[in-house]
Amino acid sequence: MRNFNIIHKLKVAFQILTELRSRDFKSAANFMVYFYPSHNYLSRLLKFTLWSLNQIFNVIPKAMESTTFANNISPTSIWLADTNPIEDFPWKQNPAIQLPEEVEVAVIGAGFTGAGCAYHWSKLGKGKMAVIEMNQAASGASGRNEGVVVMGRYFSFVKTMMETNLIKTRPDLNTKQIEQLSSQFANKYVKSSYTNAKMIEKTIIEEGFDCDYSKNGWIQPYSEKDQQNLQNSITEGLDAGFDDWTRITPEDALSLSGIRISTDSGFSKGAATWQPAKWVWSLLETAIKSDNVDLFTNTKAESIVDTGEYYLINTNRGKIKSRHVINATESYTALLHPDFRDKLYPKQTQGFFAKDGPPNMKEKVAMGGTHGWFGKVPGTGGYIAGSDGKRVPHDKAGVIDPSRFITKFLVGHVHEYFGVAPSTVEREWTCTAGFTDDEFPIVGTIDNKRQYIIGGMCGSGSGVHFNASKNIVCKIADVKNTDYYPAQYFSPNRILDPNSHSWPELEI
Ligand SMILES: Cc1cc2nc3c(=O)[nH]c(=O)nc-3n(C[C@H](O)[C@H](O)[C@H](O)COP(=O)(O)OP(=O)(O)OC[C@H]3O[C@@H](n4cnc5c(N)ncnc54)[C@H](O)[C@@H]3O)c2cc1C
Repeated sequence: MRNFNIIHKLKVAFQILTELRSRDFKSAANFMVYFYPSHNYLSRLLKFTLWSLNQIFNVIPKAMESTTFANNISPTSIWLADTNPIEDFPWKQNPAIQLPEEVEVAVIGAGFTGAGCAYHWSKLGKGKMAVIEMNQAASGASGRNEGVVVMGRYFSFVKTMMETNLIKTRPDLNTKQIEQLSSQFANKYVKSSYTNAKMIEKTIIEEGFDCDYSKNGWIQPYSEKDQQNLQNSITEGLDAGFDDWTRITPEDALSLSGIRISTDSGFSKGAATWQPAKWVWSLLETAIKSDNVDLFTNTKAESIVDTGEYYLINTNRGKIKSRHVINATESYTALLHPDFRDKLYPKQTQGFFAKDGPPNMKEKVAMGGTHGWFGKVPGTGGYIAGSDGKRVPHDKAGVIDPSRFITKFLVGHVHEYFGVAPSTVEREWTCTAGFTDDEFPIVGTIDNKRQYIIGGMCGSGSGVHFNASKNIVCKIADVKNTDYYPAQYFSPNRILDPNSHSWPELEI
């Protein structure tokens, strides 16, 4: 038995080493910075090497004893495996259809954001909107993600992140002023996210959308040494009037999700799970039933030219003139707008789906671990897990390039929390989220005229897109609406030229 174990470990270790690719080394470099931020390079390298050796010779071989890989692993996410009711729209129904010559609004991209714009326009807009998608609706990050409806990031996290950014971009402010401005920003961001979550839930209920929405919260384990930080973050949020971010005991976490941990977890009460692609398809199906929204899938916007009176959108199927443009292209944006190179960039994350897996893992609750995320997928008898977040070149936006090492390490990670359980990996995919340097969204005009962007949602798009798209649609349609994304905080200029961004007055 002992010999078998050693041979098995060596076999698995050998296989892992032969499967490693250059992208795994990039992930490793990213991992080291993320997990050991306060260590110097040598100390990071040492810690990471020890962690890797334990993974390669211990954790992964153990996990692989009960894991098999299907013969043909699909690169399609579990969400996109469902039937897309608007596949190849409108060409499938009517191949002879022509693009419109002129519209009031052109939306580029049909993920969460483009679909949100289409839905709101169908209720509020006057004139035609054309939504142009180069692949299928939800084929970008929106159909390949974790499937969690987040409440945005919590107040304390936002405030701390913004403080770090403002130290660099606002050298004219003292420490107290930086804290005040960060607090103002966090206040705006979190308020908008709470409203966004309410809007999503209300829409799903009122429209009767079938997208597997369940609101049971999101559990994030915290180690013993981080318990005080967790409490501080909760208290800071509560003091600012935000009560979503709270804590639960190991017993509550176990009964809610099946996760086995020994310390309290952070808990976002209002977070939900859903089938994200179905949300996009439902929004678009509703929108295209109206007479003011058209959808054109498999249509790529190749350039957008400002002619003064209108924008000319050159696509692979012809030209469209439009009075307004909304860029809902997230991690792909810089390919269309070079000004966004290195300002709004793709970060790649990977997911996999395995049949079976831990029977004690409960469905319809969002969960993270120290090194990844996971969740049971309703109706499949299987689970998904994911990790990584490495920056990739702009032209790699949306590329599918999964790493077998990451999948194997994630299986071991899931076993840490739920116990060893046999499973068969059937799908492995990657996708890219759009990131800004300060890690917060931009919502507004990019030319001080009639061309807009909603992007930089940094892995939290479900927590931003629906409210943000209503914000922009209301501006274009000249409909009265609370400005949840005021330019002083969310203008694209904040990332395009941080030093010239016009921040609001301090409220003290
Ligand atoms: C692995 C992973 C897990 C995640 N998990 C979560 C989660 O659980 N919860 C959450 O809130 N967020 C999550 N995110 C982030 C979330 O998926 C994104 O924030 C969100 O999907 C962004 O939506 P979007 O519509 O703006 O972008 P996308 O969904 O990427 O849509 C952009 C669309 O634009 C199209 N497009 C691009 N260029 C052109 C062009 N020139 N012409 C025509 N069409 C074009 C693309 O084909 C694409 O369909 C995750 C991200 C990743 C990578």
